[in-house]
Amino acid sequence: MKISYLGFNKICFLLSVFVCTAILLLLPWRQSDLAKLHPVLTCNVTCTTSYLEPPGDASRFSAQRSHSHHGFKEWETYDVNVKPVEATSEDQQHVKTSLQIEDLFIAVKTTKKYHKRRLNLIMQTWISQIKEQTFIFTDWEDQTLRQKAGDQMVNTNCSAVHTRQALCCKMAVEYDKFVLSGKKWFCHVDDDNYVNVYALLDLLSSFSHSTDVYVGRPSLDHPVETLDRVKGDGSVSLKFWFATGGAGFCISRGLALKMSPWASMGNFISTAEKVRLPDDCTIGYIIEGLLEVKMQHSNLFHSHLENLEKLSPDTVLQQVTLSYGGPENKRNVVKITGPFSLEDDPSRFKSLHCLLHPDTTWCPKQKPTSPIT
Ligand code: UDP
Ligand code: MN
Repeated sequence: MKISYLGFNKICFLLSVFVCTAILLLLPWRQSDLAKLHPVLTCNVTCTTSYLEPPGDASRFSAQRSHSHHGFKEWETYDVNVKPVEATSEDQQHVKTSLQIEDLFIAVKTTKKYHKRRLNLIMQTWISQIKEQTFIFTDWEDQTLRQKAGDQMVNTNCSAVHTRQALCCKMAVEYDKFVLSGKKWFCHVDDDNYVNVYALLDLLSSFSHSTDVYVGRPSLDHPVETLDRVKGDGSVSLKFWFATGGAGFCISRGLALKMSPWASMGNFISTAEKVRLPDDCTIGYIIEGLLEVKMQHSNLFHSHLENLEKLSPDTVLQQVTLSYGGPENKRNVVKITGPFSLEDDPSRFKSLHCLLHPDTTWCPKQKPTSPIT
């Protein structure tokens, strides 16, 4: 009896040593693993599950993972369900840090025939303020433009036609280039847009790039409805808003990465083909329809589809993007009093630029105000 009692004690002792060692060995590994998944945010089970199961089915997930082996950054852990529990010093630093110009990636969509007519004007004006962060996506190897823009000009090799396929082809290249850039914000604009860099930074700094943000202006007053031929078999319809490309829109990095299964490495073109939608509309379809993230409607973005003359002159300098009417509606321009006449500056972009950036070399110097006596 005595011997078996001692034997039992020994077994208990050995067992507890074994369990303790196992716990000690496992603990540091678990902690570092969790820290790797969620460096700043503390998360619950939903968050871990959503990390393991990103949008889409299992085959899509493996496709997405495999992209990371083709130069893509590893899937980053951004999730709308994840809420910071307690602000760490790293968090507080993030909140305090204001957004810098370097955090932006601006994609300008253009085409061969607009290199002179439209690009020269925007390169001379707003692009000059944000040159390094602006990429020009075109369809022709223009030597003059290459000399001026260098690597900022991207020849997409997409066809130089105004078809859904050609425009989606450019958007696909824009998206992939943004992902590779590692920047915090992706903004897309057309070559007839003026971007007010101050207003853009101001708007985006009110959001966090690691949350899901899709901001722009819809061109319709109702959401689009289409059959779900991507996630489903086309029997169910999806309703979604989209930001019109002609007014420009921005997407946070967190959200852009979640779009990857339907947008990266040629997937954008096949998604657009499946739903037979234009480029900007397909973006809305992926974000609102598939990822179920709501678009933020902003009236700071403007295309020439609206009546630009109606914009109050005192608010023009606060707008994020502006545009001007094409040859069919030349008078659709913003009303501002600037240093250039309507004849010398029909789009009003030069006057607008001099009001925003008066130190620009080609802007007429302001007359000194006479001292009050
Ligand atoms: N565009 C293009 N390929 C074309 C025609 C236009 O990439 O063959 C681009 C153009 O440079 C602009 C955008 O598509 O950035 C919209 O074109 P546009 O302003 O002429 O048309 P709208 O605004 O009326 O859609
Ligand atoms: Mn246009």
